[in-house]
Amino acid sequence: MNGAQDKLKVLFASAEAAPWAKVGGLGDVAAALPAALIGTAGSALDIRLILPFHAEIKRKNPTLGYLGAFSVPNQTGVFSAELYVASLHGITTYLLDSELTNHNSPVYYGDPALDGRKYAAFSVALLEAARFLDWQPDILHANDWHTALAVYALKTLYQQDPFFKETRSLMAIHNLPFNGYGSEFAMTELGFMPGTYEDLPDWARLTPLPLGIAAADQIVTVSPQYAREIQTRDFGCGLHEYLEKHNNKLIGILNGIDTRLWDPAADPYIPFPFTAADTNGKTLNKAALQRELHLEENPDIPLLTVVSRLDHQKGFGLLFDAIPDNARKPWQLVLLGTGSQDLEARAEDLMRQYPQKIVSLLRYDEAMAHKLYAAGDLFVMPSLYEPCGLSQMIAMRYGNIPVARATGGLQDSIINYHKAPDEATGFLFTEKTHEGLVSSLNSAILTFQEKETWAKLMNNAMNKDFSWKSSAQNYWSIYQEIKSKRE
Ligand code: ADP
Repeated sequence: MNGAQDKLKVLFASAEAAPWAKVGGLGDVAAALPAALIGTAGSALDIRLILPFHAEIKRKNPTLGYLGAFSVPNQTGVFSAELYVASLHGITTYLLDSELTNHNSPVYYGDPALDGRKYAAFSVALLEAARFLDWQPDILHANDWHTALAVYALKTLYQQDPFFKETRSLMAIHNLPFNGYGSEFAMTELGFMPGTYEDLPDWARLTPLPLGIAAADQIVTVSPQYAREIQTRDFGCGLHEYLEKHNNKLIGILNGIDTRLWDPAADPYIPFPFTAADTNGKTLNKAALQRELHLEENPDIPLLTVVSRLDHQKGFGLLFDAIPDNARKPWQLVLLGTGSQDLEARAEDLMRQYPQKIVSLLRYDEAMAHKLYAAGDLFVMPSLYEPCGLSQMIAMRYGNIPVARATGGLQDSIINYHKAPDEATGFLFTEKTHEGLVSSLNSAILTFQEKETWAKLMNNAMNKDFSWKSSAQNYWSIYQEIKSKRE
């Protein structure tokens, strides 16, 4: 038995955690992984989550305890922060509030300098929060650029600080191109000096994510394939040489999904539950959605679905370019997403041009997302790069067969029909062109018409284990390895 002394203490720092604050997959991961780790490690682990107390969380009004106020040093003196505690999915979760990190702000402003100030301050304040709690973390598990400076601070501002002497760090990369560029002013205000790591390019010396990467004891990407890809010029965002040289501290662990939240047999958002053994409910969900969205109610027309941030990363250019030439073919498309204005405008135009076939729902809508996963036949995800991707795993669990680009986590989680038809769970294509996507979609649509083959694909996809269990085991091993690296 482990007493409180022997527990491994992990501070899991994130900008998002669902359902309190979720913009993308990071919110799902921060909500699910700590709880899955407790499932794996049990009483040997004390993992706690820390988030900024975003305006959105305040509005949701979770049950909170006020813990007190403390000071955080910066160049001009100190700023003050307040700490609250709550429970999220059974995990002790701290919400950190201060004028610099919150000020009633959105999760992300979308302005590099404002986001830089918010998250640089959060990164330092979260270390001070640990001190305020008198809780010395063995490991800081930081996620993406937003908390990368906490990792860098451990090796710089806090290097001589006895409180953090034993603290080691894991830097998780969920999306490399978002590196926090624009934080220089905020960093200088907080007392950070430019990084002196000789292998880092010059532009990275005051950029949060590269500094977190360089300072971390361990780097983890959210899929093994993405760990390989970021060591290449095409995917490495200027850091490929650094990452290749230091790949002894880089590994990839595929994310999981919350299989209780995403369960077609017991999903409160979908009208007709279903299972792999009996997919009749799926047919009824499709008919209900076609009715709701005023599309022709017809089980034989393949229903293509998209649930995504509308970002160029997701390859929407390929999808939108393909539509006019293929508009005569029988298919319907329902797209749910918000994001970049030009992509929203194109999605809206396409709906206007093809009202019988295309519905663009330009909003964030949890309930509709569940209905689309459940109703869809094909889930389109032509991402140009995809560190992991959760949507394709959710889609497979609902028998919604992905047609996706063979990259990152898509490649790691989808078994390609063209390579292994018997075990296949989806369709993968490699070309970054709309022709590549169309050819893959065409073969998926042809296969959809072969009822038996399609039923097998659905059955394979729905029976795959996408739970967090094996990821959590991998993270738990990594935590132990990092701990043993202590000097
Ligand atoms: P990313 O993290 O790059 O956004 P992921 O596939 O990892 O992509 O995760 C996306 C998550 O966000 C999934 O849970 C998906 O269902 C959800 N999501 C994306 N857009 C929307 C939307 N408009 N409405 C509801 N959920 C959405």
